[in-house]
Amino acid sequence: MQNRVISKKDLAGFVDDLIKTKAAGEVIGIKAQGNKFNFGPLKSSGELRLDYDVSLLPPKKYFFPQMETVLKYEVGKSPMVEPLVGEQKLCIIGVHPFDIRGILLFDAVYGGKDPDPNYFLKRNKAIIIGVDCLTPNPKAFAASMGTNITDEGFDLMLTDLGGDYFVTVGTSKGDSLIGKAKTKDATPADLEKRNKVRKDAEKKYKVSLKMKPDQIPGLLDATWESKVFTDKAATCFSCGSCVMVCPTCVCFDVQDEMSLNLKDGERYRRWDGCMLTQFASVASGENFREHKEQRFRHRMYRKGKYLVERYKYLGCVGCGRCAIACLAEIASPAETYNLLKEVK
Ligand code: SF4
Ligand code: SF4
Repeated sequence: MQNRVISKKDLAGFVDDLIKTKAAGEVIGIKAQGNKFNFGPLKSSGELRLDYDVSLLPPKKYFFPQMETVLKYEVGKSPMVEPLVGEQKLCIIGVHPFDIRGILLFDAVYGGKDPDPNYFLKRNKAIIIGVDCLTPNPKAFAASMGTNITDEGFDLMLTDLGGDYFVTVGTSKGDSLIGKAKTKDATPADLEKRNKVRKDAEKKYKVSLKMKPDQIPGLLDATWESKVFTDKAATCFSCGSCVMVCPTCVCFDVQDEMSLNLKDGERYRRWDGCMLTQFASVASGENFREHKEQRFRHRMYRKGKYLVERYKYLGCVGCGRCAIACLAEIASPAETYNLLKEVK
């Protein structure tokens, strides 16, 4: 597969064609929302903001919606259960490498021996057109997590070279899609330019982890009793914002809702998160993480140890969304890990 270069004008035409023909499904793109950015359906290429820093919510919401009905049922003499599996063919444009790494973690968690049909029917049909993040937000630390760049998980990856985009082709699906656009083959000089643009972007990250990411599990092994967790959690509101905006938070709660006629109902799942007070409550009334410092510590272990050990992907991709969302200014894993290293 040959990497390409496309002019900004031709990229706009390519996106407009995708929107018009729906050849790759419904086109979702990164757009401005007030003075922030978010993913949403694109009406025209003019709405695309590939120069963004971070989206309010990660694109995982298209494969794992905030709330999703998973089955309908009827009770009575002839009870009935009908599973509901939402399918959707989407082309998502403008996904940053760290969010792609988040999706790869989702693939691992929701895959395995018994893959989640609701997730994979959407995920497997999706085309992902990524874009390198050249303007990281001030709370991001993807460069020190090694997630500012990815060489997997996308069909096409765009890098802004000024007047043109470098197009890294990741899959044959992406290759045939970009084959429909007016492009030219990338030369070694174009590749060199792309690599320089990426290196320059790396220097713009303001937050850094003061260790290699693979040292985090060992650090956590040695700091379970640390006062850092209690001190940090002292001002936590248990609002759950940090987990709701996170591209690597995979948890959900399942609820049954019976209609008022008491004859039928539906079961749905919706996002849940370990920083919420009731997350670890069980039917008999006990709460395994009743205190906020326990929840705070659990989140740091989950990101930095449990997920890394179980799956091959990091449990934090350094996007900085949690730090932006946290009113108490305590949610950044990088800050906690750096502090743990300092006081150890
Ligand atoms: S923990 Fe925070 S910085 Fe890490 S991936 Fe989640 S939202 Fe991003
Ligand atoms: S760490 Fe911050 S965002 Fe997360 S629950 Fe506590 S106050 Fe809310």
